[in-house]
This record gives sequence, C-alpha cells and structure tokens, in this order.
Amino acid sequence: MGQSAPLSSAPRRVSPAIQRKEHGGAHSRAGIVVLASKGNALKRDIAVVGGGLAGYCAAIGFAASGFDTVLLAPKAPADRRSTALIGRSVAFLKDAGVWPRIEAVAQPLVVMRIIDDTQRLFRATNVEFRAAEIDLPSFGVNVLNAQAQDALAARAAELSARLTVIERPLDSLHVEGDTGFLTLDDGSEVQASLVVGADGRGSRVRESAGIALRRWSYPQSAIVLNFKHERDHGATSTEFHRRSGPFTQVPLPGKRSSLVWVEEPETAELIVDLKPERLARMVEERLHSILGAVEIEEGLQVFPLSGAAARGMTSPRVALVGEAAHVFPPIGAQGLNLGLRDAAAIVEAAKDSRDDPGSLATLARYEARRSVDVASRTLAVDLLNRSLLAGLLPVQLGRSIGLGALSGVPLLRRFAMREGVSPGAGLRAIASAVAPKRSAELPPRGHDRRL
Ligand SMILES: Cc1cc2nc3c(=O)[nH]c(=O)nc-3n(C[C@H](O)[C@H](O)[C@H](O)COP(=O)(O)OP(=O)(O)OC[C@H]3O[C@@H](n4cnc5c(N)ncnc54)[C@H](O)[C@@H]3O)c2cc1C
Repeated sequence: MGQSAPLSSAPRRVSPAIQRKEHGGAHSRAGIVVLASKGNALKRDIAVVGGGLAGYCAAIGFAASGFDTVLLAPKAPADRRSTALIGRSVAFLKDAGVWPRIEAVAQPLVVMRIIDDTQRLFRATNVEFRAAEIDLPSFGVNVLNAQAQDALAARAAELSARLTVIERPLDSLHVEGDTGFLTLDDGSEVQASLVVGADGRGSRVRESAGIALRRWSYPQSAIVLNFKHERDHGATSTEFHRRSGPFTQVPLPGKRSSLVWVEEPETAELIVDLKPERLARMVEERLHSILGAVEIEEGLQVFPLSGAAARGMTSPRVALVGEAAHVFPPIGAQGLNLGLRDAAAIVEAAKDSRDDPGSLATLARYEARRSVDVASRTLAVDLLNRSLLAGLLPVQLGRSIGLGALSGVPLLRRFAMREGVSPGAGLRAIASAVAPKRSAELPPRGHDRRL
C-alpha cells in the first residue's frame, strides 16, 4: 500500500493547490477550487495528524523505517517553551536521525536538584541527582521547542521521498474496513492504513474515533520565560517546590536558562504584566540568587494547567500519541518524553506488521506496551502536584518522607534516577545487582543441594 513521492532534497510541504493538481483537483474558470474527489485521495501507509513535537517525531520515525507517510501539520503559534529530553526520547531521536541537529543547539543536563521551598511545617530534604551516579555523562538535554521543531522540519525534508508534509488541518475522519479516510479543511482527502492522532489535547482524531477522555483541571497556570544570568548554571536544573506549584529553572547553552513558574491563575496574570526589571528581581529572589542577577528575555507565555487521560490509546485503524492521549502538569519533564515514548512504540509496533501497519495486531501491541507507563506517570505527576497544593499535614509529611528517602537511601536514589531516565531501567538494574549475588549463594553445579 502507499505510493512514494518523487525524490527531492527540498522539504515536501505540499501547498493545497499543488496537492489538488497532483491528486486530481482543478481550478474552475473563476479560480474557485474544485475539491479533490474521493477517487483522487492521497494514499499512504500512515497518516499522522498534528505537527507538534510528538507528531513530527512519529512521522519521521515512520518514514525513516520505510513507511510512506503523510503528516498533517498546520502552522502553530510560536512556542517559547523548552523541553528536557531524557532517556528513551534521546534514543528514539538518534534512531530517527534527528539527534545531531538537536544536540548541536541543546544544553546537557548533568545535575537535577529538587528544593523544598514550601515553608511548611514538614519540609522535605533537598534532593540532588548527579548523572555520574548512574554512570551517565548527562541525564539528557534541554532544547528550545522552536529549535527542536526546526531540527525536525530539516530531517523531514531529507526524508521527503517517504514523508509528505501538508500544512492543513484535519476536518473529519472515518474508518471503513481496513482504511482510515481523512478529510482536510479544504475538502481534499487522504487514505491510510493507520491514522496516528498527534493533534494535541483537543484531538479531532480522538473525538472522531469515539475514544472517551477523562479531564480535570488544576487551580494553576504556568508562566514560561527564558532569561540570561550572571553566573554559570553548571549544567544544573533546579526545581523549587513552592506552595503554588513548581518553579523550575532549566539550563540552556551559555549563561541562559528557561523557567517554568507555576502560580495561581490570577497571580500569573499579574506577573506577566510586570515591568521587566521588577520581574527580573522577582525571579532572582525566587531562585535565591543561585545564578546571580537575571535579565528576562522578551516573549512570556502563560499555560493554564489541566490534566486529561484518554480511556484507551487505540480504536480500529487509529492510535493516539502525546497530548491527544494524556495531559499533565509540567513537573519533572515528563509530558513530551512520555509522548515520544508513545511515538517510538507505535513505530515499533507498525514495523512488526509491515503489510498492514494499522492492523488489530499492531494496535493491540501498541496499547499493551504503553498503558502501564502512561497510567503510572499520569498518576505520579498528579499526586506530586497535588501534594504541593495540599494544606493537609499528613500529605505534607508523606511528601517529605518520600523525598527524604530519595535523598538518603542510595539504592532508591539510583532506582529513581534510572526510572526517570528510562522506565523499567531501575527495576532491571536492581534485578541485575541482585542476580549475581543469588547465584553466588547457590552451591556450584554438581554440588549436593541436600546439604
Ligand atoms: C509550561 C510547560 C512546560 C513543559 N515542559 C516540558 C519538559 O520540559 N519536558 C517534557 O517532556 N514535557 C514538557 N511539557 C509537556 C510538553 O510540552 C507536551 O507534552 C508536548 O508539547 C505535547 O506535544 P504534542 O505534540 O503531543 O501536542 P501539541 O504540542 O499540542 O501539538 C499538537 C499539534 O496538533 C495540531 N493540530 C491540532 N488540531 C489539528 C487538526 N485538526 N489537524 C491537524 N493538526 C492539528 C496543532 O496545531 C499542534 O501543532 C511542558 C508543558 C508545559 C505546559
């Protein structure tokens, strides 16, 4: 199934007009577009809907694995956020050939600190994780989303023989037999064996597929800004846990960092209206001057925080990845990393059924591989965020004991670091640490075990 686009080094961004010409559309005398009819639909193995970071990565992963892929990526507003990419996300980006471009503009993360700044009766011990403790040069890197997006677009251009990028949104989707039929906002059509919904929290793919969503909200908004600072950050990220939520500095190349500052929504609105000098003083004060004086860069953004979990990640011919399937607050750099693990998993699952990448077997494998990781991360981040907001003493005590244990128990520290970098890695490390001991305790082969 699927037809390759002509080989070209230029990005295959198909304008609607060209697309109509290629696939049978035409212009009337008056210049009004006659829409592509059903018989002239663009046919591909896989259609990825949504050109955010998760969608682009999935589309590149499919194309790099030899699938003829179409990506629907309407232009999105500027994104000033940065993303800490860790563990399997990095491995996936390496496999997809995107890594060298990201690494060139990213900042390695070598130390991660959590500081309890809640000023409460039960305060947690401060925790500091060093990548060297688990024999890694770094936990991962921090990259500006806009630069990551540029790197992905450049890689997509290299894969243009297999990857068609259309800058138009999906209007509707229906599934018949072994095909997903996608109608774009201009009426043109795409058909694919597998439709991957990477169209974010308001996912039209999810709605069209009838996958229910559980939503909740938090009384919090995240202010996002980037800033220059006087002192070196030493490749260290510091997450201050405050009563209103986390206040997280993440290093960028040079004497520059990004900040995610969670506050009550009303306070957040007041903060973004402050004069830059006043704002700079507030940021320095909340950072306890660990980076010296700061200078705020232009372009603050505010994100109201919410959570959501789809009731499932698949339906016939459809798989969801990223925020189309799960949304949670920005604590501990989890959201996109989870989305990229989704992307890696759906590419792997499709590779196991190349003849029919949207088959029930592919979807069952994908659902099975992702459900535990997604459910456990969603729950952990939700609990941690709520524990910051909770005024109840037992909750504060529990949080303080938990973080205290992370600080003081070496095995638990290393477990948490390995799990944070790559889910399952912590358990595997413990198993391999325990396994040789057990076998050493056993008598040698041939020895009489009755003794
Ligand atoms: C303040 C903040 C900081 C964060 N920091 C981190 C971090 O450090 N590390 C981390 O791992 N995560 C982080 N996250 C989470 C991370 O940003 C999200 O998980 C990630 O951006 C979600 O990517 P996505 O591609 O799934 O969705 P989106 O980025 O929402 O992309 C969805 C795309 O779909 C497109 N779309 C929508 N409708 C349609 C349609 N009908 N047809 C076609 N396309 C459509 C949109 O235009 C958009 O481009 C943070 C989140 C916030 C709010």
